[in-house]
Amino acid sequence: RRDTLLYLNAVSKSFDGFKAINGLSLVLAKGEMRAIIGPNGAGKTTMMDIITGKTRPDAGEIFFDGETDLTRHDEAEIAAMGIGRKFQKPTVFENHSVEDNLRLALAGRRGVFATLLHRESAADRARLGEILELTRLGPKRASAAADLSHGQKQWLEIGMLLAQDPQLLLVDEPVAGMTDAETEETARLLRDIARTRSVVVVEHDMHFVRELGVKVTCLHEGAVLAEGPLDAVSADPKVVEVYLGR
Ligand code: ADP
Repeated sequence: RRDTLLYLNAVSKSFDGFKAINGLSLVLAKGEMRAIIGPNGAGKTTMMDIITGKTRPDAGEIFFDGETDLTRHDEAEIAAMGIGRKFQKPTVFENHSVEDNLRLALAGRRGVFATLLHRESAADRARLGEILELTRLGPKRASAAADLSHGQKQWLEIGMLLAQDPQLLLVDEPVAGMTDAETEETARLLRDIARTRSVVVVEHDMHFVRELGVKVTCLHEGAVLAEGPLDAVSADPKVVEVYLGR
């Protein structure tokens, strides 16, 4: 369908005979944000690894933005198609300023030294301003990344991913270790991002998932156990059972 950005069709992946992903199907619309929940070992990380090409599935197809089957492409190609991934641990350049980190990300493959010497284009400058505003890092633009709070570092890294202009952003437990205020701000940031892009958030923090206010998919044993609004999913007896059974 035209409004579908990502379509996983019966994807499976085994590790030494153990089915980490077992016939997983999922449809994500353009401009949709989805929260992925599920107990440890449900397959959430493996699913993200498969979408980004870090792990190759044994079976199934993954269509992105039309006809392209991601399973036929490698990690670098998939990133270039417009899928960005934010891991839990931020990987910013600690000794560079916020602004320079974003400039490096905007310049992409031009390389560190070339970028810092290069006169930035008006388009890059405008984009830098937008990202600083979106991430609320404007007042910190000249600070070294090392001097940011934990939350601000995470936002900087999200900003660096946005610099690559992804259509789909995959985010792994963004609020782990954040204060309540930072958590709220992160929900706001992701909702802002999802106005123009699709976002998949893997998250354990149900308070945060509630704040996101989006459709939830609960994985279990590598497949979808339940899907829908958080209230419906968390009241589903199958979901209650897998969470209580641990
Ligand atoms: P989640 O992120 O939901 O906690 P994972 O995707 O990390 O779940 O793991 C799903 C299952 O697959 C787990 O049982 C895990 O031990 C197994 N698994 C994941 N990656 C590997 C791997 N590289 N080798 C062997 N087993 C793996």
